[in-house]
Amino acid sequence: MVEILRARDMGFCMGVRRAVQMMEAEASPERQVFSVGEIVHNPHVVRALETRGVVQLPGPDEVDGDIGKATAERVQRGRVAITAHGVGERVVRELEASGLEIIDTTCPIVTRAQRYGQKFVREGYHVLIFGDPGHKEVRGIVGWTVDGSGRSAATIVPDASLESLRRLVEEFPGGFPNKVGVMAQTTHKMEDFARFVANLMLLRRDYNFEIHVVNTLCHATTGQQEAAAELARRVDVMIVVGGKKSANTRHLREVAEEQGTRAYHIEGPEELEPAWFAGVERIGLTAGASTPDFSVDAVEARIRELVGAGA
Ligand code: SF4
Repeated sequence: MVEILRARDMGFCMGVRRAVQMMEAEASPERQVFSVGEIVHNPHVVRALETRGVVQLPGPDEVDGDIGKATAERVQRGRVAITAHGVGERVVRELEASGLEIIDTTCPIVTRAQRYGQKFVREGYHVLIFGDPGHKEVRGIVGWTVDGSGRSAATIVPDASLESLRRLVEEFPGGFPNKVGVMAQTTHKMEDFARFVANLMLLRRDYNFEIHVVNTLCHATTGQQEAAAELARRVDVMIVVGGKKSANTRHLREVAEEQGTRAYHIEGPEELEPAWFAGVERIGLTAGASTPDFSVDAVEARIRELVGAGA
């Protein structure tokens, strides 16, 4: 009999659960809630919310110019919601100026990172964000690092390797700053962030270099990563459920593979392939922070069909 084991910590994190609940509580067929951009990186959740009166509008990256005006043109009646990943200060101000009623579902852990970005800049630090330049949360944090000249005083650094940081330090326009505030995308791995900080310090050992590191990592995802690693060591194959654009879901697959276990990242049960389970005795199941329970249940049910594991 093939065993299917779930990670002890997986699925919807506090921030996403809170955002979805806030939008659901406010939405009704008579008074819709319009989310400014993708609500979570999970198409199943987005579709489920649409049936409850939560409508997705283009986000800050899809709108040229004033997002408040663009949003107000589409929203005649109803409220607008800022999503769990947060947005930059300019977007908040433009939405406020449009007169629209705002529901801010930004995850408090992301808000904390934004506040640190703002504080660093006010105190004269250049901000280094170890993160994915294309990630919505990271772009939102950058939007809180605007200095007196109206420009962002932040640099997003996607790679923790010594070589790439050496290039950054040597080729920094106008010379590498002597005061840097360092933070990470909340969903990054602890080991990678530690390597980032260690490598930066190796490159700048001089006494006049001030580095202020703030741990902006989210325990929800580090806990899920530890649980995924622990489970991956006990199974033959890992199935990781979550949106393809979800960074923390992708990290769960990487963590599983680092344990030497085959791992597949899928969004739904239709992607499962019978060949993945040939000859396996134990299958591990985990899910990213934006994956709803119903997606995980559907995947587990399909695996049971494929391997004949019963209910
Ligand atoms: Fe918030 Fe963490 Fe969830 Fe991101 S993963 S939304 S930081 S609780």
